[in-house]
Amino acid sequence: MAEIYKNYVDGKWVEAKSGGTFENRNPADRHDLLGLFPDSGPEDVDLAVGAAKKALPRWRLVPAPKRGEILFRVGEILRRRKEEIARVMTREMGKILKETRGDVQEGIDTAYYAAGEGRRLFGETIPSELPDKFAMSVRAPVGVCGLITPWNFPMAIPTWKLFPALLCGNTVVLKPAEDTPLTAVKLFEILEEAGVPPGVANLVHGTGEKAGAALVRHPDVQLVSFTGSAAVGREIAASCGRDLKRVSLEMGGKNAQVVMEDADLNLALEGALWGAFGTTGQRCTATSRLILHRDVKQTFTDMLVARAEKIKIGDGSDESVEMGPLINDAARQKVHGYVQLGKEEGARLLTGGTIYEEGKWIDGWFYRPTVFDRVSPSMRIAQEEIFGPVLSIIEVKSFEEAVEVLNGTRYGLSSSIYTRDVARAFRAMRDFEAGITYINGPTIGAEAHLPFGGVKESGNGHREAGTTVYDIFSEWKSVYVDYSGKLQKAQIDNVE
Ligand code: NAD
Repeated sequence: MAEIYKNYVDGKWVEAKSGGTFENRNPADRHDLLGLFPDSGPEDVDLAVGAAKKALPRWRLVPAPKRGEILFRVGEILRRRKEEIARVMTREMGKILKETRGDVQEGIDTAYYAAGEGRRLFGETIPSELPDKFAMSVRAPVGVCGLITPWNFPMAIPTWKLFPALLCGNTVVLKPAEDTPLTAVKLFEILEEAGVPPGVANLVHGTGEKAGAALVRHPDVQLVSFTGSAAVGREIAASCGRDLKRVSLEMGGKNAQVVMEDADLNLALEGALWGAFGTTGQRCTATSRLILHRDVKQTFTDMLVARAEKIKIGDGSDESVEMGPLINDAARQKVHGYVQLGKEEGARLLTGGTIYEEGKWIDGWFYRPTVFDRVSPSMRIAQEEIFGPVLSIIEVKSFEEAVEVLNGTRYGLSSSIYTRDVARAFRAMRDFEAGITYINGPTIGAEAHLPFGGVKESGNGHREAGTTVYDIFSEWKSVYVDYSGKLQKAQIDNVE
């Protein structure tokens, strides 16, 4: 019998009102069922939002350092349960243990960071233009926040939203991705154990179309924070626009690594392999374009293909495996479709390009590391997010051309350049159109205490992580205290 998991609403574990469930299966072995999860609908979302609304008046008055202390405890429990959760995550999401441990670690870092921020959460004091008047700005919570997350970072991304939201005094409802609901259950077990009061953080499982859309549209949700595809982000933004809700969006990427002729090629090779094939290419910051200076192109391509062919594919819970499966059948079909498209567009397939189903791997969604050469910047495989282990090589003649190619997509999340020329490195920092630029590092590797997000269609101007995430989850309030004992009029009394 499969284990049955529940939603977490108002401090209690509850079924979906409809009683319906959906399955969660291991992408490395479709016969491995992790459990059944509530297939929630608008009525379940309504209960969760109601609980969050009810909990808000008390939670917002808990001093921020105290809220931070609870989050510190959350970090401690996460640390204690790191290995157990990493193993669950590998089983439900597929990425290798080294990476799922990193994913949990990101949650731990975010908890400690939020805990520290509870003793800061700074506003400003500003001199008034009038005598005997004091002016300052303070942060206030926004209200009930709806959080919607994808499956590729099942712990890190929910914590990136949830911890800062709670620290700022908001209450939340999380709708995690339907492919990774169990990691979210683990997170909520921890919130409960750490002493987050009932109603402050609620968990509603279900599909995006039903549970997600109901959360976005709910009139008592003041803020929606979404990470996922640009297509869904666009719909959510339109809905929030109509309702005048605050909305922060973290979306896709078409990230490029540039390798110049003066680069340390061995270093650049390690970066390209990790950037393109880590998490089976399913990171928003994954390297999907490799922009190579023509002087090193052939050498570097040969090095890359030789290594890509040696990557050990398999179940991520085996410590010797280097690349796990794709998340599900639809994702593999999408990736394979793009590979066919690349061939039709005239790119040359150097390695991979096929489903990997040797031996027992026939039951998982595995795909070979794939490298295309002779890709032109305008091909669809060089423009659209594939979200799989597919890397497109584009040759350039100069740094200027590399910048033009790198910037020539509608996305702008992460970027990277390998060069020993400090002037070029600084030009890249200035001219790459991306929210993140790495010098002599791959396109992946963001840290919890720096702003994270992208330009163009990768985001909508907000930044998660860093101190900037606290601007998403708080309202600024300006406060004036007039102790002059008379009516003073700004601008009008302030004559020369
Ligand atoms: P997705 O957009 O399909 O789903 C993301 C979440 O939105 C899921 O929880 C889903 O159930 C929900 N959802 C779907 N339709 C909805 C709707 N109509 N209303 C409300 N919610 C809805 O994305 P995915 O396949 O889970 O994740 C992959 C995508 O996420 C990629 O495009 C990737 O680049 C992006 N991503 C971005 C970042 C970032 O920080 N920029 C990080 C990780 C992933």
